[in-house]
Amino acid sequence: MGHVIEPASSGRAKCRGCGAAIAKGELRFGERLPNPYGDGDGEMTLWFHLVCAAYKRPASFREVLDDAADVPDREGLATIVDDGIQHRRAPRVDGAERAPTGRARCRQCREMIEKDAWRIRLVYFDEVRFEPSGFIHARCAADYLETTDVVARARHFTPDLGDDDAAAFAAALVTT
Ligand SMILES: [Zn+2]
Ligand SMILES: [Zn+2]
Repeated sequence: MGHVIEPASSGRAKCRGCGAAIAKGELRFGERLPNPYGDGDGEMTLWFHLVCAAYKRPASFREVLDDAADVPDREGLATIVDDGIQHRRAPRVDGAERAPTGRARCRQCREMIEKDAWRIRLVYFDEVRFEPSGFIHARCAADYLETTDVVARARHFTPDLGDDDAAAFAAALVTT
């Protein structure tokens, strides 16, 4: 079966993109993938909020976005999808935060990320799941992600980031 956009039949499924529950009746994206734990012909379905799918699984989501019925803000979702396809590493963005310690190394420049510096949290989609994939300096986004237009993307996956923090993060993305 192909990927699907459909109303959630229960409120039990958690979104693979953000980890939060998908409300019953809310439109959700189901990505169908070969089940690596099955006997070879099984499939599994990963469920996402539509926005989370647009951010983190743009290529799969695009396959069904245009033809699905009654999708709210289809154009906004398509814009996110296009951005994630154009910048192939952008879907790895899993949030923004100030480094709580100085012990993580930046995946782009290989230098340590100093305590309290803004960093971007990365995940990597491995077959059927997202794996934690380290961090980059906010200032290394231009080199690693090939875009610095990632504030909305990072905020989506860091819902507790306030306006002041978002402004500070945006400033840190710009290399001087
Ligand atoms: Zn989600
Ligand atoms: Zn760096």
